[in-house]
Formats: sequence, C-alpha cells, structure tokens
Amino acid sequence: MTNTPRVTIWNEFRHEKRNAKIAAIYPDGMHEAIASHLRAEGMTVATATLDEPEHGLTEEALGRTDTLIWWGHTAHDEVSDGVVDRVQSRVLEGMGLVVLHSGHFSKIFKRLMGTSCDLKWREVGEKERIWVVAPGHPIAAGLGEYFEIPAAEMYGEYFDIPEPDTLVFVSWFQGGEVFRSGCCFHRGRGKIFYFRPGHETYPIYHQPEVLKVIGNAVRWAAPSGGPEVKFGHRPEPLESLRVGE
Ligand code: ZN
Repeated sequence: MTNTPRVTIWNEFRHEKRNAKIAAIYPDGMHEAIASHLRAEGMTVATATLDEPEHGLTEEALGRTDTLIWWGHTAHDEVSDGVVDRVQSRVLEGMGLVVLHSGHFSKIFKRLMGTSCDLKWREVGEKERIWVVAPGHPIAAGLGEYFEIPAAEMYGEYFDIPEPDTLVFVSWFQGGEVFRSGCCFHRGRGKIFYFRPGHETYPIYHQPEVLKVIGNAVRWAAPSGGPEVKFGHRPEPLESLRVGE
C-alpha cells in the first residue's frame, strides 16, 4: 500500500461546458478541483474526460492508475461498453475505484453492483449532515463525528445496492430522508468506494472535509500489494499425494 497512489480522475465534463453557473463554480471542471487537492496531498494525478478518444481511459492510462475516480451524470449512455469492460477488468485485477455522487447510475457502477442502483432524490439545496458510522475505518481518518454540507441535493433510501462490505457514512437530510452515503465493496482483487456528495451546482468539491474523504478513499482503494492471482488447472500438488510414501 502506498501513501501516494497514482490516481486518474474521470469526469464526464459536460455541465461545466454548458452551464455558466456551474462553470463559475468549477472553471476548469470538477476533475481539476479534485485534482488540485490530491496533488497537494502528494499524489500523482491524471485526468480523463468523456470526449477524449476512448474517454481518456486507454489500456495504457488504466495501466498506470492505482485508483480511478468516476464522476458522471447526463451522459452515462455515451460511455462505450468496451471502456466499461476495460475498467471492470482492471478493478477485478486490483485497481481501486471511487464512484462519486450521480456516478451511482454509471454503467461501470451498475455493472460492478449488479443491481439497479436507483434511489430517491430532490433538488432544493437542503442541509446534509454526514455521520461517520465506522470511526476506525481509514476513509474516516481526520474527520469529526459528523460534517455538514450546507446546501445539497437530497439522495434518499432505499438505495438499491448490494449490502456494502463496510458502511462508513450515513447522511441525514433536512427534509427527513437518510442515505448510505459512504459504501465499501470488494470485487475480485479490487476495492470500490461509493461516496454520495457532489452535485454540480454546489461548490461541494471545494469543501475540505469532502476532499479529505476523497483522498482517504483513493489511498484505501489503491492496490494493497497482495500476491498475484493464478487460476486454472493445477496438476502438480505441493505435497506428495501417494499413499504410503
Ligand atoms: Zn446531482
């Protein structure tokens, strides 16, 4: 495990180009807001966006990625199935994946979860209070008991995901709903973290607690250096199986 993983931040990068209000919050895109924080934490950061060839996620780009961050919303269907296959393979091989906010409906997250990943939502800019429910987990390092986002889009239960391996955060919303907002999963050798905050019309990826969680999640999800996996026929046993020897 490394404290300075190589991270690639994938952003759909459409809202910021089409909506002046969103561009004012994220002039270089949400990916750059996150990237500048992770660079300050000492990580090697690359970015990739939907409109690049192969969405910027070539074999080479993924091969030099320890953890991939994913933000998408309006163009999930434009992500090619071949790229989704490639990302899934890398996760099963051990690459970390951090899926943010509306990425719950991305092809890659639904593929890895195997469920609809549907939820309730409301956009009125209400307060969100995010409670740490796994205080010993590395993704919660450096946080208080809870932190608040002053204006957020609400996501509410039921969230149709498989039971998380570890639940790190639960959100309460001013309107009364609750949501499992920080969920850890393992698939193959890979680790996946879903983190809810991040609607594009609010400056959420400028908030220190949110950026701290993303940095913690990138480090947690990065490959942990375990043995190479071998599958298939194994004709030679490690011990002699001959009776009476
Ligand atoms: Zn949203």
